[in-house]
Amino acid sequence: MNLKELTIKKAHELLKKREASSVELVEAHFDEIKKRDGDICAFLSLAEKEATEAAKKVDGRIAKGEPIELLAGIPAAIKDNILIRGAKATAASKILENYIAPYDATVIKKLKEEEAVFLGKTNMDEFAMGSSTENSAFGPTKNPIDLERVPGGSSGGSAAAVKAGFCVYALGSDTGGSIRQPAGFCGVVGFKPTYGAVSRHGLMAMASSLDQIGPIAKNVDDAAAVFEAIRGADALDSTSVDMEWQDYWNEPVDIEEIKIGVPREYFIHGLNPEIEKNIKFAIRALEKEGAKIVEISLPYSEWALATYYIIMPAEVSANLARFDGIKYGHSAIDKEEKLQNLLKVYNKSRGESFGAEARRRIMLGTYILSAGYYDAYYSRAQKVRRLIKQDFDRAFKEVDAIITPTSPTTAFKFGEKMQDPLSMYLADIYTVSINLAGIPAISIPVKEVNNLPVGLQLIGNNFDDIKLLKIAKVVEILNKQNL
Ligand code: GLN
Repeated sequence: MNLKELTIKKAHELLKKREASSVELVEAHFDEIKKRDGDICAFLSLAEKEATEAAKKVDGRIAKGEPIELLAGIPAAIKDNILIRGAKATAASKILENYIAPYDATVIKKLKEEEAVFLGKTNMDEFAMGSSTENSAFGPTKNPIDLERVPGGSSGGSAAAVKAGFCVYALGSDTGGSIRQPAGFCGVVGFKPTYGAVSRHGLMAMASSLDQIGPIAKNVDDAAAVFEAIRGADALDSTSVDMEWQDYWNEPVDIEEIKIGVPREYFIHGLNPEIEKNIKFAIRALEKEGAKIVEISLPYSEWALATYYIIMPAEVSANLARFDGIKYGHSAIDKEEKLQNLLKVYNKSRGESFGAEARRRIMLGTYILSAGYYDAYYSRAQKVRRLIKQDFDRAFKEVDAIITPTSPTTAFKFGEKMQDPLSMYLADIYTVSINLAGIPAISIPVKEVNNLPVGLQLIGNNFDDIKLLKIAKVVEILNKQNL
């Protein structure tokens, strides 16, 4: 069994035909993890016993001839900021080093209803802040394609685990690109659904108006399968939306009916010319297939990064206020002293267990929200955010989807951007506008550059997730034909 190529569909077939048991699938993945994760560090914790037990249950049902769901018995990995009851959830932060989740996130509850099997929790940038996993308090994840390079971030552990064949699929979270960028860097598919499509209950909040959970998978079909399992309204997340979804599986999109926009502002200085060439090659392939390609303009995207780096830290500073050394996780001072001086407990607990990037963003956010600066920064950024969204609304009156690169570069080397936070933030130049607008986007691997993966980003209109996935599937097929 070639684990690297084992998709959900293939694994499901193996189980149904009884060519492999779920326990065997779980064992094979753990063997691989034990062999290679010492070097890659995709996982922060493993759950071998729990996974084997869950797999046995599925095998029992198969043995009795009972029908099983598509995801049943199939090994998955979960980003460490998503809660699985009874399992550690550290968000790669020292402050939550020994934190055990007291309940299941809604996405986990839904996956459990399908009898998914969880192998463990994946590494990430601390509290999902970063683009390389170098901000993990427990050491970075390596890119399985080249161990000297970053896997991207913040869901770098999830993307690396899928690429390395450590799991069949994984969940990540995306606030400004954290599913799509690592998927692009590792050569797998990463899908950020529309804001509100998937419940965020049980996801540790980074920037609540931007966060969304989504799948990282080996192909578009698998991403769609996971999306179908986790989406839906949830009373525990008031931003989740109740709606009728189209069926991904019913019929493929007729590409001749599809109009795709190419925003001129996204093919600019700073974009690696080889990446540009490969994205344009994919666009031409779509055109040859009959898709209509038009140039569009998203003028306010130029301000997306600046807007994101105001709104996101503001929300981060509010969300991370709860980690105070009392309610959760690490506390710096013993009980007696706590009673004497609360402020000291806060300061010491936070000061000694948040990493540099978390501290930087908390301070930035606190400054942005402080009296006197709020209007100049936060209110203004909210206004620009609306203009960015209006750009997309206008574009989607004309086109069905928009194509851009996922990132301006391929996976970079460790340390390359750590000394200069701004250069790290630039890695998100193509992804953050999507979160600001709340719309769905997917990264699909296209032709490589110097043996390193390149992600093509396909963006859709609000709640057009299924149409977007169907168009992504066409890009995937064309890419395979053209290799
Ligand atoms: N890399 C971006 C950041 O550092 C995105 C993070 C994310 O999507 N969680 O904020």
